[in-house]
Amino acid sequence: MTWNICGHDTAIAFLKEHTQPEKLRHAYLITGPAGVGRTTLALAFIKALNCLKPPAPGEFCDHCFACRQINAGAFSDLTILAPLEGHQDLRIDQIREMQQALALAPYQAQYRIVLIQDFQRATAAASNALLKSLEEPPARAVLILTADAQESLLETIASRCEILRLRPMPVDAAAHCLAEAYQIPPDQAKLLAHLTSGRIGAAVKLYQNPDLLSAYEDALDTLAELLAVNRRQRLQFVESLSRKKGSLRESAADLIAIWLTYWRDVLIASSDAEIALVNQSRQDAIQWVAQQMDFAEIHAAVQICEKALDQLEKYINPRLVLENLLLNMPILGAKEPQKATRNVSYND
Ligand SMILES: [Zn+2]
Repeated sequence: MTWNICGHDTAIAFLKEHTQPEKLRHAYLITGPAGVGRTTLALAFIKALNCLKPPAPGEFCDHCFACRQINAGAFSDLTILAPLEGHQDLRIDQIREMQQALALAPYQAQYRIVLIQDFQRATAAASNALLKSLEEPPARAVLILTADAQESLLETIASRCEILRLRPMPVDAAAHCLAEAYQIPPDQAKLLAHLTSGRIGAAVKLYQNPDLLSAYEDALDTLAELLAVNRRQRLQFVESLSRKKGSLRESAADLIAIWLTYWRDVLIASSDAEIALVNQSRQDAIQWVAQQMDFAEIHAAVQICEKALDQLEKYINPRLVLENLLLNMPILGAKEPQKATRNVSYND
């Protein structure tokens, strides 16, 4: 583990090189799904650029004045931009204000750095305004953007950045990292790694936030309910989900990642393999589903979920992805044990 980050070794090695003044570029774009570690990586790079007592070239100490200020979000030469509270979009006035600050010489550091999070949420006007900073970058300024995917930004913006694509870690490696680096009990680390599909940041957030864990249980309840209903009701579910606040892409990805842990468990249950289930608490229901389907059907269900997650990452319309997935899931009837009949309104 370098830079105190699990995984992303290639990206870290690349950025370490770029801490050398002759290698440093004006703009970087870090892409990947939410919770994969984009901001963590960006902040580590910023510390490596500014550390006052680097233990080795490209490293940071995490204890000096600069490192501590960066960790506290109080470093005077670092501006972090994100959509304002209560707003979905990053606005043009935020970009303009940032540009005025960027034009000034650094206050205490070598560079003035701006980190803009989730740039896919910038309005068209804000994107065009930022383009100016990329076309004529001020001296001693470094821009770091994060986004879900390169494809969701203007081509003219992406092409002016050094691009780093972050991918989730393999699940086993993520579980190991969560247990080792975050001291999460191994059983829980395994569950968290599975249900976040190897996104360490998302796993840690889930661990620290019990409300999110209950959302996880809800997602499994929803799957059980959807498996028992017909195609029309499944489409109604997608409709109601798409009308909710927030990003449908993110909520669909969260749901499907959780469903995938369930289908993998069903696959294990049907194969009699001696592998512990991720969703131990649902063992009876998982056994029941495994008995209703043959191995090929279960395998297909796993693949449908994997493909859907891949499509969401490739920026295919999330509603279509979710509809397609649900229309291809088997209809199992409502005989799942241990569940009282619970009326779910699919109209919201
Ligand atoms: Zn330091």
